[in-house]
Amino acid sequence: MNENDVVIKILVDNKAEDGLLKEHGFSAWIEAYGRKILFDTGQGNALAKNSEFLKCDLSLADILILSHGHYDHTGGMAYVLKQNPDIKIFCHPKIGTIRYSIREGANPKDISMPEEIRSVFFGLSAGQIKQIDKPESISGNIGLSGFIPRKDPLEDTGGPFFLDPAGKQPDIIEDDMALWINSDNGLIIITGCCHSGLINTIEYILKISGQKKIHAVIGGFHLANASALRLEATCEALQKWNAEQIIACHCTGDEAAAFLRKKIGTKVIQGYAGMEWNNE
Ligand SMILES: [Zn+2]
Ligand SMILES: [Zn+2]
Repeated sequence: MNENDVVIKILVDNKAEDGLLKEHGFSAWIEAYGRKILFDTGQGNALAKNSEFLKCDLSLADILILSHGHYDHTGGMAYVLKQNPDIKIFCHPKIGTIRYSIREGANPKDISMPEEIRSVFFGLSAGQIKQIDKPESISGNIGLSGFIPRKDPLEDTGGPFFLDPAGKQPDIIEDDMALWINSDNGLIIITGCCHSGLINTIEYILKISGQKKIHAVIGGFHLANASALRLEATCEALQKWNAEQIIACHCTGDEAAAFLRKKIGTKVIQGYAGMEWNNE
């Protein structure tokens, strides 16, 4: 591995190669500039088996980044802490917010960080958790977005998300953030669920990183409920920025991914647990 190479292995995803577990969730292992980063942890059922199978030793990770507090990104945290008790955790201060998904005709579903994970997480020392709400540099070429301003009129959080079980207070998922790596080939942007919207996320990272070229966008894009207008605008933006690879994972939605692929072509690739990507 060259010192400027970036390697990303998808550990947990809604899709998986044979021999790996799939689940509704996301986790990725990232090696860049000598750092080993675990980005999200999935729901907690798939991480142990998949990380072992893919030879990602979680005890060697330098940091854990939590893209936001939903159960399908934080549920594997207890396992990570068992493997790596002192791992530094980067997340937004609102990560522990109690929140719900309320679908028409169904009971409110609590989609917060699971109870058994909360008790572990909130028992950690303050020094182990780095709270981030503004852009933060992890090292010279790696940064976290912090809160992503919501500017695009067509983008929303992507689902019926609320802070109360009665569905009166919308949850804007303030804690949603994305990771960026400035590689030799341009920016690599990693999203969890992208509740801030893909256009908002990329636009903000271009601004805070000062970079112009987008090499790859990888992660969940949460477009399953997006309007045709929003999907069109997302495609136009990705084409305008000339994003070279768009790896749609987790909550992107099969139809939305197919739409992007039809419009943008082979630059759009389906992600899955077991995918190993590098920036060559
Ligand atoms: Zn998710
Ligand atoms: Zn989410």
